[in-house]
Amino acid sequence: MTAPLLISADTILTGFDPDGAPVLLEDAALLIRDGHIADAGTAAAMRRKHPDAAQTGGKGQAIIPGLINAHHHVGVTPFQMGAQDQPLELWFAERLRMRDVPPDLDTLYSGFEMVASGVTTVQHLHSRAPGDVTAVLERANQIIGAYDRLGMRVSYSFAMRDQNRVLYDDDQVFLDLLPAAMRPIAARYLAGFGLSLNDQAQVFHELSRQHRDKDRVAIQIAPANLHWLSDAGLEMAARLHDATGAPLHMHLLETPYQRDYAARRGQGSAVEQIDRFGLLGPDLTIGHGVWLNRDDLALCRDKGVCLCHNCSSNLRLKSGTADLNAFLASGVPVALGIDEAGINDDRDMLQEMRLALTLHRPAGHDAPAPTAAQILRMATRHGAATTPFRDRIGGLAVGQAADLVVLDWDRVTYPWQDPRTSFPDVLLRRAKSQAIMQVFVAGRRIFADGSFATVDRNAELDRLHQWQRRPRTRTDDEITELADTAIDLVRAYYRGWGGSVAGA
Ligand SMILES: [Zn+2]
Repeated sequence: MTAPLLISADTILTGFDPDGAPVLLEDAALLIRDGHIADAGTAAAMRRKHPDAAQTGGKGQAIIPGLINAHHHVGVTPFQMGAQDQPLELWFAERLRMRDVPPDLDTLYSGFEMVASGVTTVQHLHSRAPGDVTAVLERANQIIGAYDRLGMRVSYSFAMRDQNRVLYDDDQVFLDLLPAAMRPIAARYLAGFGLSLNDQAQVFHELSRQHRDKDRVAIQIAPANLHWLSDAGLEMAARLHDATGAPLHMHLLETPYQRDYAARRGQGSAVEQIDRFGLLGPDLTIGHGVWLNRDDLALCRDKGVCLCHNCSSNLRLKSGTADLNAFLASGVPVALGIDEAGINDDRDMLQEMRLALTLHRPAGHDAPAPTAAQILRMATRHGAATTPFRDRIGGLAVGQAADLVVLDWDRVTYPWQDPRTSFPDVLLRRAKSQAIMQVFVAGRRIFADGSFATVDRNAELDRLHQWQRRPRTRTDDEITELADTAIDLVRAYYRGWGGSVAGA
């Protein structure tokens, strides 16, 4: 039980109406009690009604629901670790060179950036976890523990895969591409990521058990991608979902090569293939989906599937430009994810929203383009729909969780902004993270005036810096040489593939 808090602002965005229009309260206040929005109304009336509540917020400020980064993997980015941006299939080889980072420090690092840009909930897809079940659980709990320390809300999932770790082909095919002297190095590396499907299911069950009943932690299922899972792996993901009801987040059709892989693997598109395992439904989110065709999109709509648009990542890894306007027109809920890093190689959700708003504006007076309200709904309500928290978050109606961001609106609009311009337009065009004054999660203030309530950012970043300065080992050098060598071999391997951008 915490003391009630009255938080007021000139403008409060509480959510969106059924037509997608923003619901705005002017000169209003919210009452936060026990982690939830307990009451809402005009500021004056709320002060009269709740005279004993502590007060914050005020004139010149605005409040929005906490933003949801619906697709995230790591803190220290591949680029920071020496990997250049490459087309995705080559990047898998390029990023072999990444060195291990303590999961708690890595998570705190990106968590600092997310919260400072207004993110309160993250979908963490843990895809780099060497070792046995015990080691993977230890890493998973370090990640979840770091979010807990920060006060963020996390939907965690361990990326399930059982094949094709480097190429869209058997690991042996990759090993055979390499000079003989490098094969043992690569084989040793890959053997570190060898959890069986049963062990991966055990990780899911064990984490679900350990974090059951926690308000700010949920465990989700992440079948990594079609090429990364055998039929047995896809079946297991579907069975885990059927047995537990946990939602699923799956990378799919990120590049034209993944579309070609699906054609080589079996009958039908990638979407049709996972449908045969019963994976399509309102509990599934497809990450990326850049190469969904019209029939795939219609099938997703009919089955109630969610999509997650990863705008920066698609640009940086030359994956192609998702037809966001077609996604939005189809009525499929679309979330927004920063993926491994945004366009500035950081995790800035305000920037990611601005990029998505700006990128999908094809030429032509009548060509569709997303509105600011649509993008904001992606980063709030639709993001919420891709997590197990669902309607509890993503809006600030009475009864929803008090996950919210207070902005210095005077700063956003200084020295001038025409007051008739819509609130979502001004937010998406002009708001930068410096305008974020306070961030609340479950009614608790976790960030205010540039500082975190529970964690010393400078001290943790210094620990990370010191760790990264450690001397390179022989294994580090061997793996870097492997990455340098592999990239041209992998490029040559895919030369026989279509990967064509025609006929999408
Ligand atoms: Zn991803």
